[in-house]
Amino acid sequence: MTGILRTVRLTVFLAFFTVGLTHSTGAQQREMHALWSHPFDIGKTAESVREFVAKCKRAHIDTIVMDVKDSNGGLYWKSKRFPQAIAAGYENFDLLENLVREAHAQGIKVDAWLVDFLEGANGAAFREHPEWAQLNPDGETMLSEKLGKKNPYPYVWMCPARRPGYVDQWLVPLFEEIVRNYKVDSVHHDYVRYGGDVAPDSYCFCDYCLRHLPRYAMLSYESLPEERYRVDFRQPRIEANWWSDPTMLPPGWDKMDRREKADYILNGRTIPGGPPDMRSFFYDYKAHQIETFVRETYDAVKKINPNVQVSAAVFKNPIISGRFIGQHWDRWTDWIDVYMPMTYRSHFGGDFEAYLAHLQESTERQIEWTLHKRPVYAGIASTYLYREEFQPFDEIRDRLTDLKAISANDTKQRTENLLAIRAAYGRGKIRLAQFAPDIERELSPLVERAVANGGRDASPQLLDEIATKLAAFRANPPQGFAPAEKLKRSIEAARKARPDGIAIFAASSLTREKLWNVLEEEFRR
Ligand SMILES: [Zn+2]
Repeated sequence: MTGILRTVRLTVFLAFFTVGLTHSTGAQQREMHALWSHPFDIGKTAESVREFVAKCKRAHIDTIVMDVKDSNGGLYWKSKRFPQAIAAGYENFDLLENLVREAHAQGIKVDAWLVDFLEGANGAAFREHPEWAQLNPDGETMLSEKLGKKNPYPYVWMCPARRPGYVDQWLVPLFEEIVRNYKVDSVHHDYVRYGGDVAPDSYCFCDYCLRHLPRYAMLSYESLPEERYRVDFRQPRIEANWWSDPTMLPPGWDKMDRREKADYILNGRTIPGGPPDMRSFFYDYKAHQIETFVRETYDAVKKINPNVQVSAAVFKNPIISGRFIGQHWDRWTDWIDVYMPMTYRSHFGGDFEAYLAHLQESTERQIEWTLHKRPVYAGIASTYLYREEFQPFDEIRDRLTDLKAISANDTKQRTENLLAIRAAYGRGKIRLAQFAPDIERELSPLVERAVANGGRDASPQLLDEIATKLAAFRANPPQGFAPAEKLKRSIEAARKARPDGIAIFAASSLTREKLWNVLEEEFRR
């Protein structure tokens, strides 16, 4: 009797102790492993899907996060509601159905990953509803922007605020269709934000947002729309008079054009003479729109099946992304079951050793930001770990592209690019000779010939030949060129922060850089 009681007490004590050790309520006791994967990783037959799942099983993956709505808006399931959006080539192969069946047979979970607010210029949603797109102060979509100095930006971002619009007429119905018709374990938000890579402060100024932002911040009163109250300057510090109830919307607002309204929203002042602080309401409005969408998706999913979880890929720092792209994800703990912050090396400056420190520190802070309320999986992108190894070859690739665009007479620009190619090749050559001696023996004379004689022999054919050989090498570097050690050490650095899981981006890079064996070892129980 006493013995049993003691056992019971010990068990209770142990249970209490273990719960106390975990970060989050309901957190798993063991580290979970997720892998972001793309349709091209798994092929288009039941057999190829089975092979991919077997590879994940060997790598101790618990959850396959599969892209089923891509950045062009293409769908990888047999959508009945939006058959016009099914990705080309997938009309007769239901990728999601096949994956769920094969993964579940191996005890692996499937998380259906949707690229939320991004659509292709030729995607079905934008084609049918151009009025749902985000607009800048000039009334243009993101297609008018430039990526880098010259490349046109190829995507359209849809307005998260507009109702009826993309959220309630397209995106939430997509989530609902998946949860209703497929036995997925979870659904996954990606691009759950405004665009941030080309013009974060220029969107969205669509008609809907221009009408609703002043309403959201209550910059005037709808009950007395013409009434304007001036600031009552009673306090010596200008901004201390904010609570005297000034009506901030400029008189004649309705007659202002899009640019004037946008200028006021970005550069206006709450208090005349005070700082240009009006844009803080713009940031707040954007964060509110994304948060509303996250809540609506969660409610819609749970209404259909409360057992399906909702996860999200988010930027590393919710405070900074809250300001720039409306992704204040620390505030979403009621509507996100698992966070997978993308703490990728590409989002940090510094060398590899610095990244290991940043990865641990960021993961620790991410767990703090969520107030330990939800599981956090540390998100590591394997391919970006290899900046040092691949950077010389990527620079050569970019310089070759530039060279082809420069006229033969522009000797200054040509020389500059040729010298840069020579220097970059010098940096990459030693490792190339070590791991891919055949490729080095082929490439070295070609590069030598291109950069010799002031580039007089650098014919377009020769430059193309180098570019083709480089691309082939880049697509299939030999085993060991991307050192396994870096991925191992990154996983170990993330572990020091004691996250609930590790999420790796992505299956295709593990294949290309020959790193599956790292997960087989590191993720072994
Ligand atoms: Zn809008």
